[in-house]
Amino acid sequence: MKVCDCCFHDEEIKRFITSMSTEFGICECCSEEGNLIDVNEILDFFSEFISIFKHDEVEGKPLIEIIQNDWDIFSSVDIGEKIFSDSAVSIVLDLDMGLAFPGLAFSPNIAVSYVDEIVESVSFWNKLKEDLKWKRRFLTDIDEMTDLGWDAMFKVSAILDSQNLLYRARINQDGQAVAYSLYEMGTPPNKTSTAGRANPQGIPYLYLSKTLETTLYETRATFLDYISIGIFRIDDGHEIELVDFTNKQSPFNNMGEILSFTKAKLTRDVISKDLSEPLRRYDSELEYIPTQFICEYIRFFTKADGIQFFSSLEMNGVNVVLFNQENIRCTEVELHQITEVKISSKKIN
Ligand SMILES: [Zn+2]
Repeated sequence: MKVCDCCFHDEEIKRFITSMSTEFGICECCSEEGNLIDVNEILDFFSEFISIFKHDEVEGKPLIEIIQNDWDIFSSVDIGEKIFSDSAVSIVLDLDMGLAFPGLAFSPNIAVSYVDEIVESVSFWNKLKEDLKWKRRFLTDIDEMTDLGWDAMFKVSAILDSQNLLYRARINQDGQAVAYSLYEMGTPPNKTSTAGRANPQGIPYLYLSKTLETTLYETRATFLDYISIGIFRIDDGHEIELVDFTNKQSPFNNMGEILSFTKAKLTRDVISKDLSEPLRRYDSELEYIPTQFICEYIRFFTKADGIQFFSSLEMNGVNVVLFNQENIRCTEVELHQITEVKISSKKIN
């Protein structure tokens, strides 16, 4: 069967198909007009990709559902089912799966879960969270993390330089229409620094956002609040190195090491979710401890200057937390007033 770039959402697979294709036309799989290739050309990838799953009738979910939810590989579940049901594909995948699970016929809806090595690493985060909050805090079992390969999972993967502006907003607490000073927009002194999602009390980090809009959402300002917005610039000739929790790498680019790639990606994803989670006003500050721990772990093991992760308060907004305020300064403070707040809800009972 021939497939085309429109059959896929994964950017790297689309790019590969476009670069390999010598034929443009109507796709027999998705009926769109696209760059066509024979599906055999991407079969090696699928062969390796399904090795991260195991057959699991008890807790498993349909293979195609996990692939779409966690990886967004195909343009739709239907297209994925069509491709996996093609005889050329299913014969090879049947053999791959069959080697691990003799007698089992391959189907796009076969019940699978991730292999144990991946599940162990991802579920360790929940165990670690419980340990840090309720059992022991300062001398946790780093060896266990190393055994699971966590020391290699957090790498510097985003670099910022003087071309990148960053923003921090503070609500004017006295309600006056006077902007805070440059100094007041930086990290607070150690003694008055309170705990945050990334930093423990007394060890201040600098919380920034990549756009002015995101930082407004992050303050959770209300109608007519006066807001001081600090614009931060990285000093010329310096770079800031970040561990990036927003990076959506394709498994297609990680052939040959898909197992370790998946383990690291899914582990980072669960941590990233907690980094983004806003503390509700009735939550305890204990909820901050696991993410404070992971930031310290990253700071110590990677020597990174900070992390970046998605904002939960603005769709696709990106926050940056810096572990210190070296090589970056607030160069300007703008005074804003909130003129509109949109809010929506859904009925949950
Ligand atoms: Zn197609």
